Amino acid sequence: MDLVIRNARLPWGTVQDVGVENGRIAAIAPGLGAAAREIDAGGSLLSLPLVDAHIHLDASLTVPERTTNRSGTLLEGIERWSQIKPDLTVDDVKTRARQAILWEVAQGAGAIRSHVDVCDERLVALRALVQLRAELEPVVDLQLVAFPQEGVMCYPQGQRLMEAAIEAGADVVGGIPHYEWTREDGISQLQWLFALAARHGRLVDVHCDETDDDQSRFVETMARLTAIHGLSGRVTASHVTAMHSYNPAYAFKLRRVLAAAGVSVVANPLTNIVLQGRFDEGPVRRGMAPIKALDAAGVQVALGVDCIMDPWYPVGTGSLLRAAWMALHVGHMTGQEEMARVFQMATAHGHAVMRPGAPRELAVGQPADLVVWDATSPVECLRLLPAARWVIRRGNVVAQTQPARREVRVGDAMVPLELVPESGHRSG
Ligand SMILES: [Zn+2]
Repeated sequence: MDLVIRNARLPWGTVQDVGVENGRIAAIAPGLGAAAREIDAGGSLLSLPLVDAHIHLDASLTVPERTTNRSGTLLEGIERWSQIKPDLTVDDVKTRARQAILWEVAQGAGAIRSHVDVCDERLVALRALVQLRAELEPVVDLQLVAFPQEGVMCYPQGQRLMEAAIEAGADVVGGIPHYEWTREDGISQLQWLFALAARHGRLVDVHCDETDDDQSRFVETMARLTAIHGLSGRVTASHVTAMHSYNPAYAFKLRRVLAAAGVSVVANPLTNIVLQGRFDEGPVRRGMAPIKALDAAGVQVALGVDCIMDPWYPVGTGSLLRAAWMALHVGHMTGQEEMARVFQMATAHGHAVMRPGAPRELAVGQPADLVVWDATSPVECLRLLPAARWVIRRGNVVAQTQPARREVRVGDAMVPLELVPESGHRSG
């Protein structure tokens, strides 16, 4: 054997040795013989690698160094991205994307599908990622989608750019029908894309109905085209957030049609929970007190963990920071200043709720109740959910945690990796 992972707990609970030969699992049994390399899992879980089925590596790590988003909305995001697109270079895209990929690998990902914006005469991002796909093949399975961020039918040269992207090595045909100017153009886009995919033997992955508009119904057309072109199992509808706005009868029909056609769905919980529902006026049911509106009205808002592994909430660790992270998402508080405000809710506001009249701040004369985080700013704290390195009460250390130490393979060596941009521009 080339590698034996000893005492690995398999997902169904039994503990075994797993032997690897020529890159494949050769044996799963107790007490396997010696191998060239051995890892002792010590009873820890062994699973398949994580798969990130939807990311935009070309735009990764552009905030806050290159641009920001004041409102935190999807449309401002597209606008900000198109402003910096002309300045992209192959080296710049590769540097940022490589970093993002290594972060994912270090956290358990074995495969990544990246959409790559091809609404660019130079196809800079795609050319960069095609190179990276080959360079990083030893560490990760990277798949590239030709993604027409600004449309195909209504964007100048949109069809020619999509064809050029396939020529340049994109693995998957992407799309964005709801972004075209009219419904008819959206339908035409899908018809054109599916024909392109069928002609070149490519998979399909379309940003479909990523809107709250209950009249955005392109995904049913995707199902029909999947059947017409015989592409069952080879087509993915990404985002499909309009589904949460459909009436129950239509939603029922749609689920049946998608299953029958063999169309997969990829959900993007982190981004869509902050991007969607922004036009709702009321009642906006997020399942949480409307903290953004309350805060804007001058109400003091603090946060709680509520439950840890109890009959109301079977997960949880007692991390208030994690509750703040969720509040940022569910509360639509991703605007640049809003994020720091969430951290205040988790700290100073909570003190004010518990001890009215004795406001806390970090100042001389105040009680020495403090935390040193493995992060450099409140916003970075909310991004990283870092270790609380030292927790201090009345000047005494009452808890301490070693931060995680990560390494990734670069060439032949394992090198240290921190989840902060190499540029040194950290969040916030
Ligand atoms: Zn996307």
